Amino acid sequence: MNKVIIKSQLNTSCMFYLEKRDGFARIGRIEINGKTLETPCILDFSGEEMKNVLKSINFGYAPYIVKYLNERIYEALKPKEDRLEILTGLSVLNPYELIRIFRELKFNKPIYAVASATPLTIPILVYLGVDVFDNILAIAKAYQGIYFFEDFEIGINDLKSFPCSCEACKQLKSNKDLSYEEKSELIAKHNRSLKEESRAM
Ligand SMILES: [Zn+2]
Repeated sequence: MNKVIIKSQLNTSCMFYLEKRDGFARIGRIEINGKTLETPCILDFSGEEMKNVLKSINFGYAPYIVKYLNERIYEALKPKEDRLEILTGLSVLNPYELIRIFRELKFNKPIYAVASATPLTIPILVYLGVDVFDNILAIAKAYQGIYFFEDFEIGINDLKSFPCSCEACKQLKSNKDLSYEEKSELIAKHNRSLKEESRAM
């Protein structure tokens, strides 16, 4: 199937090629620092591959909600990033505040929802127009013993058996004497792989 490619040059180091749109949700490609990413995409904070891309992003110091509390402080501390729309702190917002933020956005650059992706939130955020995610929550929650399912999450100690057949879960099943670090790393691997699957939906 031929796709119509709308090419928009945002600046010299980031190009966004919009290939398909469904409401606010969109499929496309982004080039950041010479790296091409198919969106919606998940930036991997645990590997080397994305290191240069991640290091080049200015995340700022203030979550987006600060804008409503004190606009002057937000302007001083917000992300200084003109290639991507950086949204931080979404995971602590109530639905009303979340919708308020997305109603304000101009959608003229790829939207990156920082540290907000779980299998449950990715479909909603894609529907709202988010193009870029990361696996920060998948990793952080793993170290709190939180295990992801497709549409919910559960404490690892409340899990009677591992229903998943990924490599990490096989090791979790067969090794009962893992250290906290080993166990957390395996849960993180499982959580990350499940998130990749939910992105593909
Ligand atoms: Zn698994």
